[in-house]
Amino acid sequence: MTPSAPALVGCDESALVSFNQARLHRDVIRPLEQMTEAARRAGFSLQVASGYRSFERQRAIWEAKASGQRPVLDEWGQPLDVERLSELELTHAILRWSALPGASRHHWGTDMDVYDASALAKGDTLELTRAECEAGGSMYRFHQWLTGFLASEANPGFYRPYDMDRGGVAPEPWHLSFAPIANGYARAFTVDLLRRHLREHSLALQATVVTHLPVLFERYVRVPLGPKGETSNET
Ligand SMILES: [Zn+2]
Repeated sequence: MTPSAPALVGCDESALVSFNQARLHRDVIRPLEQMTEAARRAGFSLQVASGYRSFERQRAIWEAKASGQRPVLDEWGQPLDVERLSELELTHAILRWSALPGASRHHWGTDMDVYDASALAKGDTLELTRAECEAGGSMYRFHQWLTGFLASEANPGFYRPYDMDRGGVAPEPWHLSFAPIANGYARAFTVDLLRRHLREHSLALQATVVTHLPVLFERYVRVPLGPKGETSNET
């Protein structure tokens, strides 16, 4: 079934169900429980830090960054002086770390940020940084396990859409997508659909975003489809 336009841009919550603190697409729950159980058997407490996020929620993040209320970071994680950037430079800088409202994979309920709750020491807060996932970081062992699980026969269809740096979104090893559902959303999601939505909703940097949308879409929105659900009529 092709997802509706509102469902693609984070404005339709009818397919969502609650899962602990998060909300997710209802067809993701069973496979997620399978993965959580596999993690438990390996000694990890797999939890979802963030699942579905609405357009309004993503817009609030975007507005806070565009206005300088929230820091916009450079390549090395240092805050940028947003006053000195052109609108287009600022747009690129935000998109490296935050999704464009209407174009977040978290809008679909098929994608989630995961972590190992048992690896967090009391009082520690989850950061979701690459340092946390690399050798010496608190999530390193969990991500070693997750990499193996994703490549195994036991994986019901999860993959990491931001596994490597493709020059767009910075790598996010903690971000998982359930390909059998998400691939359908990704195929239905087009520049035209996004442009229509953005024109109808006020947004900081709107004119710049709409003008450059095809380029921004290719660089920051499009990622490879997941390994399951790919068909021979792929273009
Ligand atoms: Zn994410």
